[in-house]
Amino acid sequence: MAEGSGTPKTGKAKRRRRPRRKKSRPAGKGLLRSHLNRVEASLTAAVRETYAEDFGAHVDRARPFELEMKVSIDPAKSWRLQADPSLEEQIRAAVREMATKAEAFRRGRVYCYRCDSPVCPHSHPPRPTSVFGGYSSTGLPLWPEFSQILLEQGHPGVGLLYDASPAGLISMYVSPDMLKQRQMNIFGRQSKTYDILGQVVFGFLRMRVPGEGRSVPERVAFTLQAVEFRRLDGTPRLALNVLARLSDGSPALDAINGPYQLRVSDIISSARHRISSLYPSARGRARRGSASSLPDTTALAADILKGLARKLEKAGRQRERRTAHAEGHRVKNRPTSKAWEDALGAPAESILWDRQEKTYVVLGPRSRAHVFSLRGRHVTSLVLSPEAVQSRKRRKRWLPITDDQRERFDAVVGRPAQETSDGHGREVLSRR
Ligand SMILES: [Zn+2]
Repeated sequence: MAEGSGTPKTGKAKRRRRPRRKKSRPAGKGLLRSHLNRVEASLTAAVRETYAEDFGAHVDRARPFELEMKVSIDPAKSWRLQADPSLEEQIRAAVREMATKAEAFRRGRVYCYRCDSPVCPHSHPPRPTSVFGGYSSTGLPLWPEFSQILLEQGHPGVGLLYDASPAGLISMYVSPDMLKQRQMNIFGRQSKTYDILGQVVFGFLRMRVPGEGRSVPERVAFTLQAVEFRRLDGTPRLALNVLARLSDGSPALDAINGPYQLRVSDIISSARHRISSLYPSARGRARRGSASSLPDTTALAADILKGLARKLEKAGRQRERRTAHAEGHRVKNRPTSKAWEDALGAPAESILWDRQEKTYVVLGPRSRAHVFSLRGRHVTSLVLSPEAVQSRKRRKRWLPITDDQRERFDAVVGRPAQETSDGHGREVLSRR
């Protein structure tokens, strides 16, 4: 209104002539303008808030961007406005797309959200036995020991890592939620710059540092990550990243040697091909507009990764059998076949609790020792000298089991309940 009164008279007169045809218009136009002003102000505030939530107050990552929004209006229902996806999701998607860095993918490295870099010192595994364990709250990549992540996730095969036999491979799928659970939004949790859709950790492969003529091979753990990222032109892409280094910093894949490791490398290549041919979710959905009928990219990647984990373990088992076959003299020493026999016949004092690994240990005849998981799965067997057994007891790594633990062990391995016998003890257990 104030603006109108300040305009020159001629302009005012001209402008008035037209609206006269519809009498209500001048008042309506002012009202409309004020509505639109409020919409613009609210939308600006909402976009700014969304950015602050996902990326914090600093705007160094922000650049001009387009925001397209789609809503539907039903005049019959008091002009009700509806949006699917919701306005919030539409704004959030546009803001995230804008803040996504292109070309953040580097082979053999993860993106560090603390340094905002794919090449800083935190971006690669520090040791051959390290795997990716997720991001810290401030977006720093964490690199725990392979055994540590297996223990944290309760993998029953962890004992195999300590098996004297060099064969066998442990492999585990890790969900993206687990990797991002500590990470805060402003340190990349929602970022599409380097978006991990899941990973497989596996190990160990025994590999030699090339060209150094070392006689002792290193134990190497691998992290295989399905990642969505952006190319320079902004188009999304998926890839399988292989994170594993030898102690000299060279990529472990370059040191693949021998038929068994080549087989492992082939399995990885095939998964890499399948992951990179997946259709990225974000853009694909928006274009097709039929989100519900399309399988989710994250779910597809998870399926491929889980299959990859199974194939790797299978390759390990085949290799183990071949190794055992080739080294016939060792077969007799391998105590695995006696595991159940020994477990079922062991007196209570021969069953121990491994405090460190949270496993049962059964000592059998002829220096045999068998490791069982909490659920009664046979993990591994080994031959140990009496000194080695004594040392573990002395260090209180192996403890005598309590009556409670023994009852549980009896139940999970299917030993007849002892002392209290007559199956009564087991009923009590199952009710717990
Ligand atoms: Zn860093």
